[in-house]
This record gives sequence, C-alpha cells and structure tokens, in this order.
Amino acid sequence: MPFYDYRCHDCGRRVRFFLSYKEYDTVTPICTHCQSQNLKRLINRVALAKSEDSRMDSLMDDPALAGLDEEDPRALGQFMRKMSQEMGEEMPEEFNEVVGRLEKGESPEAIEQSMPELADSFGGDSSGLGDDF
Ligand SMILES: [Zn+2]
Repeated sequence: MPFYDYRCHDCGRRVRFFLSYKEYDTVTPICTHCQSQNLKRLINRVALAKSEDSRMDSLMDDPALAGLDEEDPRALGQFMRKMSQEMGEEMPEEFNEVVGRLEKGESPEAIEQSMPELADSFGGDSSGLGDDF
C-alpha cells in the first residue's frame, strides 16, 4: 500500500498515511497529533532526496498518473511535462516541442518521424526518457 507524507500546518509535524489510491481520492487526512485537517501533501522533498531511478518509480506511483493512457498523446504530453517538472531539470528544446505537440494531440510516431534527431536525444540513454514510452 502506498504511503503519503503530509505536513500539518497547525502543529508543524510531519504525518504519514498509508492509503490505497481509492482512499487517497476519498479520505481527508487528519493530523494524528492535533486532529487538524490543515495538511499539505509533501511530494518534492521526498522526490528530491532519491536517486533518479527511484524518482521515476515514485512518479509512476502518483495517483494522478495511475490512469495514464499511453495511447492518448495529450495524456502522454501532460505526463512528460509533469515528469520534467518533478525532476527539476532544464529540459532540451526538443523535449518541450515534443511535449507541446503531444498536448495538441499529435501521435508520438508522427512527431518522431518529423524529428529524426530525437533518436539521439531520447533513445536508450540513461535518462529514462526513452525506453519507457
Ligand atoms: Zn497537527
């Protein structure tokens, strides 16, 4: 079962909840120390502390992405944009162009064909941007 870390804004403590994806959508977390509902989910702190690989894993665990339809270019584009933001790294111009075109609904195949240099930028290196898609 995945867990989610929150920061309580009333008592300042960090609270961890074990929730299923379904519960995450329906349950309002309550601070176990002061019963406040004024909690903010911690994402980036956790993500930044991890290696790149586990960062990818935790991203794939994100409930918002659990229903990602890889056949849907717009969903894929939004996923890639979110992923690049999560990684906090400057992405090459080509990446932003690809994301933009995906979000407009162009198919990955069509984009790939019109940008042959993509194979060099994204294919099979250790950045994790290539093979998973
Ligand atoms: Zn509290």
